[in-house]
Amino acid sequence: MGILEVKNVNKRFGGLQALGDVNLSVAENTCHAIIGPNGAGKSTLLNCLVGKLIPDTGSVVFDGNSVLGRTPFEINQMGISRVFQTPEIFTDLSVLENMMIPILAKRDGSFRMHAIENMMSEKDVLDQAESMLVDMNMADKRNMHAASMSRGDKRRLEIGMCLSQQPRLLLLDEPTAGMARADTNNTIDLLKQIKDERDITIAIIEHDMHVVFSLADRITVLAQGSPLVEDDPENIKGNPKVREAYLGE
Ligand code: ADP
Ligand code: MG
Repeated sequence: MGILEVKNVNKRFGGLQALGDVNLSVAENTCHAIIGPNGAGKSTLLNCLVGKLIPDTGSVVFDGNSVLGRTPFEINQMGISRVFQTPEIFTDLSVLENMMIPILAKRDGSFRMHAIENMMSEKDVLDQAESMLVDMNMADKRNMHAASMSRGDKRRLEIGMCLSQQPRLLLLDEPTAGMARADTNNTIDLLKQIKDERDITIAIIEHDMHVVFSLADRITVLAQGSPLVEDDPENIKGNPKVREAYLGE
């Protein structure tokens, strides 16, 4: 039994079957990659896991509890954090202030607007945020305006913001999309480090096969809304069905 169990999930958008009978089991403390061509339903599936979309049928169970019918905020409180395709950080705030927000939100169970003004008086939260910046190797950037960071650093900050909530499952949707090779390699190293040092399960949607094969313990290939195959990276590499559907061979 995986920490995340998706069973027979279907999702339609009008006449389009975006997901058809999707089954997925993510084992605890592994990195599970979900790959597939554009439009295969990868982001739709991820949105069904975090409460942004509700499947038409099927079940999504995290750590023994159904996530269906819960709000994204409630699902986050259950221990799932998600990194978006484009970095979702507060560009008007400093790096340190950004890092404090998810910690406060998790602690208080809500995002209070007055929190920003009073944030610096929250000693525990400040300490946790500082320590996460050290873990992310960003302590020297603590007072930097978040808007002025490089794309790679914004991504690093966003991943740190997710980790600051101490999630049990980290979901990433194409975290290296649009990145230069050097930033991609830094992101791979960061995710490897997170995998090795933390008690965490990672599910990653990724286009870049170099990223996938650097990180994944297990891979599910989605094609036209349904799982084509799930296997270990070595077997995926040599699977002719995958090469045909995904690599276009
Ligand atoms: P992927 O992330 O694998 O590229 P998506 O999950 O974004 O694929 O999309 C799967 C299919 O569902 C695509 O054909 C896409 O156009 C369609 N789709 C996604 N979201 C919506 C939506 N909100 N409304 C209508 N169609 C959508
Ligand atoms: Mg997508």
